[in-house]
Amino acid sequence: MSSQETPSPVSNFIAQIIDEELQSGKISKVVTRFPPEPNGYLHIGHAKSICVNFGLAEQFGGSCNLRFDDTNPSKEEQEYVDAIKADVQWLGFKWGGEVRYASDYFDQFYLWAQHLISAGKAYVCDLSPEQASDYRGDFNTPGKPSPFRERSVEENLDLLERMKNGEFDEGSRSLRAKIDMTSPNMTLRDPVMYRIRKQHHHQTGDKWNIYPAYDFAHGQEDAIEGVTHSICTLEFADHKPLYDWFLENLPVPCKPAQHEFGRLNLSYTMTSKRKLKQLVDDKVVNGWDDPRMPTLSGLRRRGYSARAVRNFCNSLAVAKTDGVVDVAQFEFFVREDLNQNAPRAMCVLNPVKVTVTNFADHIKGAVQVLTAPAHPSVDLGERQLPFTAELYIDRADFSQDGSLSRKKFKRLVLGDYIRLRYAYVIKADEVVKDATGEIVEIKASLVPGTVGENPPEGMKPRGVIHWVSVAEGKQARVRVYDRLFTHPAPESADESGNSDFMQYINSQSVRVLDNCWVEPGLVSVAPESGFQFEREGYFVADRYEHSADKPVFNMTIGLRDSSPGK
Ligand code: ATP
Ligand code: MG
Repeated sequence: MSSQETPSPVSNFIAQIIDEELQSGKISKVVTRFPPEPNGYLHIGHAKSICVNFGLAEQFGGSCNLRFDDTNPSKEEQEYVDAIKADVQWLGFKWGGEVRYASDYFDQFYLWAQHLISAGKAYVCDLSPEQASDYRGDFNTPGKPSPFRERSVEENLDLLERMKNGEFDEGSRSLRAKIDMTSPNMTLRDPVMYRIRKQHHHQTGDKWNIYPAYDFAHGQEDAIEGVTHSICTLEFADHKPLYDWFLENLPVPCKPAQHEFGRLNLSYTMTSKRKLKQLVDDKVVNGWDDPRMPTLSGLRRRGYSARAVRNFCNSLAVAKTDGVVDVAQFEFFVREDLNQNAPRAMCVLNPVKVTVTNFADHIKGAVQVLTAPAHPSVDLGERQLPFTAELYIDRADFSQDGSLSRKKFKRLVLGDYIRLRYAYVIKADEVVKDATGEIVEIKASLVPGTVGENPPEGMKPRGVIHWVSVAEGKQARVRVYDRLFTHPAPESADESGNSDFMQYINSQSVRVLDNCWVEPGLVSVAPESGFQFEREGYFVADRYEHSADKPVFNMTIGLRDSSPGK
């Protein structure tokens, strides 16, 4: 599979259902929706849901709505609304029509609540949340009817109106559907439809003192929008009878059907907005878009392309079970995408100076401009590499130990030869140390005529290393990342039964290197440009901080999978 094009999603059971319904004429056009609650930023799990919902709509020539499920204002914010819109667009999807909000329909929901009351199918209940929970029973105990269950229609309508107007305290009353207190399905035991919440709402301001529960809102939102397939994750399977109950008992314009699929869970990754928010609030990371975060904005800042994220999501089965996917599988798609598409460049992360002592004997002027392809197999043009008498190489690429085997250490050794990538073969002749014994300079000599040519007999280089000109290169900051969690299942419980993901935070998840040196062409690149730093890994110019004056790169991913067992 080429990573150039996003493959179509593997066929799945929902696609089969849609196909049959289109064939039989049950539906004429598929309408799906992606319904985030704006209480945090989108993460990789949401990307799967987005790819499924928008992907199915695309596949069958239908449309997918973006709808904010904004029924709980206490945790919601405009910042999240804006970030979610930007993330969906970044992923490459276009929603049908305007952005929608559950709150657009609050007036309609209210009329429908009155409708159910009038039909004797809803009532205002004065039990406190704790009392109501006692009355509800549990899996083994049938519930008991609330003492307020048989209120008259008039009293219920009046109380609901007054709840709406803010006459009662939060928690003192609720509106409940009158269904079945003995149902084996707990969600049917007179579920709450409205709660009193004297909260300001980011879309409706102070208009409402009551807010609808998810169950009373979601199916009706789908029906108002003409959604045909309401696709959600498995935890809502139990809610399906309730979803259907509201649609059957209300004069809704159409009857959408709910279908559930398994959540995406990834090893070494947390996909819960609430817990990710804790990482942000506790300053474990630097914001929602910290490159270590599994949020879409974090992955983006890390240098993962939208294409790689889509390719990964589309490679996953849409299943009826929850499972954990190895994060290495995700990284495979990221690496494959970058290998295909990222131009190559040189960056020395831990520099030591090399002085070419015979430079002037063989090269006219201070600089010889060499050229190299930007990519070894894809035509991405050429880059210029100025070669000068002083160069940086990486400290890890040099050793004074002449006894090191040529097979094992394919780098520069005192007294031996190495090829500088796209440049000359050089020989390390001498080291200069400071008072502490640290090497501060390597004196070397170049072998003339070796650019693109083999050296004479007896001067065989041990290998090829990368380098940057001291005079022409540019100092850069590079952030090197490791996994944020040390545990493959950070949300799992430890031996004592506690589940505290904070104990699995990797304290070494970022290293900031301030004295890296990049080839000159990298200075003028646009933020978010991705590169392979040869022999080091894939890196991206930081979306916010990179500039020609102060280049800043984030490590995206290593060149190969170095996880245990690989
Ligand atoms: P979180 O637990 O992160 O808060 P959520 O389900 O509460 O997730 P929503 O904003 O309600 O977040 O999610 C929007 C849509 O994305 C829902 O349809 C939800 O089912 C889906 N979704 C959320 N997390 C995942 C996941 N890990 N895998 C697949 N779909 C997901
Ligand atoms: Mg949710």
